[in-house]
Amino acid sequence: MQKAQPEPVQQGPLIVLSGPSGVGKSTLVEHLIARSPWPLRRAITATTRPPRPGEIPGISYHFWTREEFERAIREQHLLEWARVFDSDYYGTPRDEVEPYRRKGYGVILVIDVQGAARIRELIPEALHIFLMPPNWETLEQRLRQRGDLSEERLQRRLQTARDELAAANRFDVIVVNDDLDTALHQLQQAIAPRFTALQAVKQSPNIPA
Ligand code: ADP
Ligand code: 5GP
Repeated sequence: MQKAQPEPVQQGPLIVLSGPSGVGKSTLVEHLIARSPWPLRRAITATTRPPRPGEIPGISYHFWTREEFERAIREQHLLEWARVFDSDYYGTPRDEVEPYRRKGYGVILVIDVQGAARIRELIPEALHIFLMPPNWETLEQRLRQRGDLSEERLQRRLQTARDELAAANRFDVIVVNDDLDTALHQLQQAIAPRFTALQAVKQSPNIPA
């Protein structure tokens, strides 16, 4: 009788973080990764929007031209993509996710609610977290205090934020970003079981690490 193939080694967890622009996603993810006891990485996604002051190509985003982006779509290099704020393309290159998960890294996708819905269809085991502002005034104030948007772009983001907030109940976990440390703690608590489950699989005597 042929020997049964071992189960494939489980991959690092995929974590989707969504929420309206200005709610604090980048700030929290930066702290989360800096303090993470597990191997954890933010996927650098691609966009056709221009860099904002202080953004670094290849670190903040891959800044692509429209032609480059459309070629990546045609050649199926993107796991998901969407047009956000009715204008620019944003998308997740496969090679920012798959090789790292195979090595056991947790990968965080900071993407909009359309992208999150697509990932839910493609990768059902992903953990979906929605970051919520404590109230509308705080969201507007944070977006303004970042100081990197024209009034027109800011208003477009606030408009989109209303639809995004209405999608929050489709997520596995909702974290309110009022006090930063509290939100960070809640994020860590939401993510931890995904890593302990992975460790348990790797330590099982039947499955090679
Ligand atoms: P996003 O990535 O969701 O667009 P950012 O991380 O850029 O949002 O945060 C927007 C602004 O809000 C930044 O100026 C950031 O310093 C600030 N901010 C984020 N979280 C908090 C918080 N808990 N309390 C106060 N200010 C915050
Ligand atoms: P920003 O222009 O403020 O950096 O991002 C605007 C929005 O695009 C945010 O909601 C951000 O999460 C989302 N976004 C960034 N990268 C991607 C991506 O690869 N795919 C999708 N669907 N959304 C993204």
